[in-house]
Amino acid sequence: MEGSLTARDRVGIQDFVLLDAYTSETAFMDNLRKRFNENLIYTYIGTLLVSVNPYKELGIYTKKQMDIYMGVNFFELPPHIFALADNVYRTMISETNNHFILISGESGAGKTEASKKVLQFYAVCCPSTRLLDNVRDRLLLSNPVLEAFGNAKTLKNDNSSRFGKYMDIQFDHQGAAVGGHILSYLLEKSRVVHQNHGERNFHIFYQLVEGGEDELLRWLGLERNCQKYRYLIQGECAKVSSINDKSDWKTVQKALTIIEFSEKDIEHLFAIIASVLHLGNVHFEASAHGYATLNSSAELLGIPSNILQEGLTHRKIEAKAEEVLSPFTAEHAKYARDALAKAIYGRTFTWLVNKINESLVNKDSTRKTVIGLLDIYGFEVFDVNSFEQFCINFCNEKLQQLFIQLTLKSEQEEYEMEGIEWEPVPYFNNKIICDLVEEKHRGIISILDEECLRPGEATDFTFLEKLEEKMCGHPHFVTHKLADQKTRKTLERGDFRLLHYAGEVTYSVVGKFHLISQVNCASDLSLTRLTSDRFDDVMVRHQVKYLGLMEHLRVRRAGFAYRRRYEIFLKRYKALCPDTWPHWKGTPAEGVQRLIKHLGYKPDEYKMGRTKIFIRHPRTLFATEDAFEI
Ligand code: ATP
Ligand code: MG
Repeated sequence: MEGSLTARDRVGIQDFVLLDAYTSETAFMDNLRKRFNENLIYTYIGTLLVSVNPYKELGIYTKKQMDIYMGVNFFELPPHIFALADNVYRTMISETNNHFILISGESGAGKTEASKKVLQFYAVCCPSTRLLDNVRDRLLLSNPVLEAFGNAKTLKNDNSSRFGKYMDIQFDHQGAAVGGHILSYLLEKSRVVHQNHGERNFHIFYQLVEGGEDELLRWLGLERNCQKYRYLIQGECAKVSSINDKSDWKTVQKALTIIEFSEKDIEHLFAIIASVLHLGNVHFEASAHGYATLNSSAELLGIPSNILQEGLTHRKIEAKAEEVLSPFTAEHAKYARDALAKAIYGRTFTWLVNKINESLVNKDSTRKTVIGLLDIYGFEVFDVNSFEQFCINFCNEKLQQLFIQLTLKSEQEEYEMEGIEWEPVPYFNNKIICDLVEEKHRGIISILDEECLRPGEATDFTFLEKLEEKMCGHPHFVTHKLADQKTRKTLERGDFRLLHYAGEVTYSVVGKFHLISQVNCASDLSLTRLTSDRFDDVMVRHQVKYLGLMEHLRVRRAGFAYRRRYEIFLKRYKALCPDTWPHWKGTPAEGVQRLIKHLGYKPDEYKMGRTKIFIRHPRTLFATEDAFEI
């Protein structure tokens, strides 16, 4: 049969649950490495898919591959993202319930590529009509648009997502994709005004300058030269060999048209993008203000330039019944300019997502089931970590909590519910860290909120003092006063450290968590860049640890790799036993008993729960599947 396992596919172990030396991280790494060296980038831990980025085309995402995986049981073929997508899709249809695919990993791990592969699989494999083709095209084309405005070249990834994305794909009862909805989170707005060395601003700026038509650039008052724009050159790498801004511009234009942005929408969109570039070139000098490009910016934004000028250079103070304008210093005016540029870009991004959603909306009110795809940026640790890293890392902390709930915790609860004897496996529950950040009235966010309500009185240091006072003694919080005792590493005044589940991170509160100059992290370069043909041991090991894969494996291994309701199991395999084929008259549980007795299952290979059969190893299931072919 095309698609059956070849000798090469069986290199190493394709499901970690079958690995004998399962407790050892070294054995885990050896297996990943062995398979990676054979271009086998996917390995299962039960139903969890582990993927190692190959950084090269492997030819494994073709239509032919999609056909191979379509409608085939999960464990029958080599591990693949298509197997996961197909399994989720078929379970959604047969059980009419919603499903979510959560993709995590460090920057450059391949999360966005994986989410695109899932979407492409559904685009090709779901039933289709001409009307639905529209939805499908828009879903697919939302990617290049969002990537143009929300992705950028960083030191770790030439196409790094600088926002989190959750996408719902809605299916009707026949399994056709009929609509969608996108939510975006935490766009890294600071990138608009500042980039580290070796990094770029969001792709769209370079696409516009490099690829925009002459007439358009003339209208926007732009020159075809990125070096002319301060917001584009701080990282000193406006040109990147792996990126073709000109052709990407064309792709985005086409996508915008298919998503049905009107010509007016597109005009406004690029007027705003250009206004940000002009704004970045506005200089402020202590004496004579240089406002040369302020006019262009104001014009494109559709506001009188004197109002923009006043807003950027003066503060309004309300004194008694009067409003008094007090001039900013040149330094303050720069902050105001950058804050405005970030706000404009942030709002434009939100508007863009809303427009895409309008085009994906499904107006018919019949019940739909949903597959959700979450692609959010991973844990971040820089030399200097500010409020943005704090939010991102908190978000990852919450995701880990969800992962624990959905796998480790619910897995063990299911055994209890089904009356299966079970020796609990201990795992670190990071709820304590989530609470430290988000608890009402006591968490870091609440304290920050309170401090923000005391303008004039509160400073970065009063905020830190409050944290010290309230968090003192918490096992996951360290201030410079306590640093030596807990982690033996000193902290600067103005810093605090959190011991996250994934490791420790030092945050600076200077500038109340923002407007901090971000020191670049070039020192990480050799460690974090995963080049093709090289299995980066340090980086892979780090992620195995922080994603809790060993804990997950332990639970899976001690438990049961596969479980199915008796009815479903019987329906699939009843043809293998003369007693149950073609009709079984007794209860489904009795039918399953009869069936597995006939197949010769040994007592330690399975357990009968209240409503489901639990099978310890996938190999038992493989053998059962193979029995069809005998
Ligand atoms: P970030 O958190 O920075 O957004 P990410 O996890 O989303 O990172 P991707 O952008 O998906 O990472 O992947 C980075 C690059 O790795 C891609 O541009 C592509 O070149 C390569 N890549 C990722 N997955 C694959 C794959 N399955 N096959 C071949 N190359 C891949
Ligand atoms: Mg990404």
